[in-house]
Amino acid sequence: MHTYGLLGKNLSHSFSRQYFSDKFANEHIAAEYLNFETGSLTSLPDILKKHPELKGFNVTIPYKEDIIEMLDDVDPEAKAVGAVNTVKVTHGKLIGYNTDVFGFANSIKPFLAHGMEYALVLGTGGAAKAVASVLTNLGLRVSFASRNPSKPSHLAYSELNVYAMRTFKLIVNATPVGTWPEVEQKPALPYHMLTPEHFLYDLVYNPEETVFMKAARAHGAGTTGGLTMLKMQAEKSWEIWNGK
Ligand code: NAP
Repeated sequence: MHTYGLLGKNLSHSFSRQYFSDKFANEHIAAEYLNFETGSLTSLPDILKKHPELKGFNVTIPYKEDIIEMLDDVDPEAKAVGAVNTVKVTHGKLIGYNTDVFGFANSIKPFLAHGMEYALVLGTGGAAKAVASVLTNLGLRVSFASRNPSKPSHLAYSELNVYAMRTFKLIVNATPVGTWPEVEQKPALPYHMLTPEHFLYDLVYNPEETVFMKAARAHGAGTTGGLTMLKMQAEKSWEIWNGK
């Protein structure tokens, strides 16, 4: 039986284990998916030693960037993004990939309206980098909103004035704000400045309908949540682990 898993710090509410366990049961696949919850990446060699049958694993918060230096090779797309969320174990070597890029690229396409030129990505972590890479490749100009802006492309939330909100017709929440159990929270945007020309994409998938999405829709903006992307990135990981 093959083993797959998820490496991260706090996995009690993770989606992946349930998703893959259901997939294995439904598709009669003799495999298991384990949570490798660890407070430090230094435990990775021990995890690998303990599970010699491990074919691959996903990587989640807060290790998507720090894992890179522990890998033998990194796919060019993941290298460009600077974050890895999928590792394939092959002949004892660890190869890193980023399937968030695939998941976001394929889930955003149906919503990209003609003439959308500028996008604002909320957050500056691994998911934000994957989202920005996709949008840049699709020809959009990307800026980030950050609590601690440190680069010219970063804006403070307090800088999101009428002009900025008119400019950024696409806004992507790539922060964990609004995730269960803190479901009443939402990123600090001037929601009253949204219009039907705006589209807001929330990477948060639990809950499926976030307060961010509800507030945007109340002002006529289009919205989508993170569940489709999540399923797409999980299936892409499966393809990578199994060489399809
Ligand atoms: P992360 O590395 O922890 O980064 C999140 C970023 O959000 C941080 O860099 C930070 O940027 C900002 N942030 C964190 N806490 C915040 C707070 N309380 N208020 C405002 N901003 C905050 O996480 P990640 O891996 O990039 O993931 C971000 C979110 O996307 C998570 O909820 C994750 O579950 C979700 N996600 C979903 C999918 C999917 O398939 N749907 C895939 C990947 C990730 P600043 O410090 O610059 O403000």
